[in-house]
Amino acid sequence: MANRIAKNLWQLEIPLVGNPLKNLNSYLITGERNLLIDTGFRQAPCRAAMLQQLQELGVDLDRTDIFLTHLHSDHTGLSTELIRPGCQIYIGAVDGPRMTGYQDGDHWRALYSAYVQDGFSQEEMDALWDSNPAQNAGPRPYSGYVYLRDGDTLSYGGQTLRCILTPGHTPGHLCLYAEEGRWLFSGDHILFHITPNICRWEGVPDSLGDYLDSLQKIRNLPVELLLPAHRAETGNLQERVDALTAHHMRRIWDALQAVRREPELTAYQVAGRMAWSIRSRNWAEFPLTQKFFAVGEALSHLDYLERRGRVTRVEKNGKFVYVAARNGDNN
Ligand SMILES: [Zn+2]
Repeated sequence: MANRIAKNLWQLEIPLVGNPLKNLNSYLITGERNLLIDTGFRQAPCRAAMLQQLQELGVDLDRTDIFLTHLHSDHTGLSTELIRPGCQIYIGAVDGPRMTGYQDGDHWRALYSAYVQDGFSQEEMDALWDSNPAQNAGPRPYSGYVYLRDGDTLSYGGQTLRCILTPGHTPGHLCLYAEEGRWLFSGDHILFHITPNICRWEGVPDSLGDYLDSLQKIRNLPVELLLPAHRAETGNLQERVDALTAHHMRRIWDALQAVRREPELTAYQVAGRMAWSIRSRNWAEFPLTQKFFAVGEALSHLDYLERRGRVTRVEKNGKFVYVAARNGDNN
């Protein structure tokens, strides 16, 4: 059921069936024109929940534009089904073209073969093929996206909504800040029940460094309502930024210690030696889709260390392995 959070502001509960994120919070700003922020997967349970809540609120889709915080399919999947002629789908100028490119199977083939070099077995990648919702629950092909940049503003429901480019979780993630209400739609940049996944992205040398910078970028915003994209939990922005920063500093240290203890680990093996808050007894029992995210996360931490001269990446027998830099000090 839709939940009224403030004047002209609603939260729509979209279930993500079988996904550890559990739900997506879609937000709706109502007014002369409406703005729907994020949509859910292009899958039946998301579609049913979305349509039912839009109907419950009497939303006229002919007067509804859509804002996508980032390219992930749990945020974007339904957008092209919900959009009506004359309405706009907004997405960041960095994530938009990337998302369109991801509709090409070649992208996934290249990504999957890179993951084999980072330590996955070919059998694991074959088994993962097509079960990844990023591959099959994203939006239908669409050519009308309106791209937004850092500092661009929109106006809905009496609010001036400013785009804040916050790369890290994705290369072009946008937060949306409502100046009058001091609402911050934080997308997956700030979450409370889990730490947002920060993985390596093609063409991005240091996505974790970008993420940590993006946390500082919003840390001091005056925020009355902090509106994350998953789960009901919310809280204080500065405290959460500091906790997320500390979390990644610990993880960077864990990754470095793993490489120091056992030289020539792949990212896959480093991921297996990092601690994860998932209910599995050990790395071998991790569900494959979770391994995929875990290895991406290990890679972003290894990239961070490599960029700062703490580890070196070496190719060995067709795999990339990591060794601690010899001149690295002990802190
Ligand atoms: Zn996401």
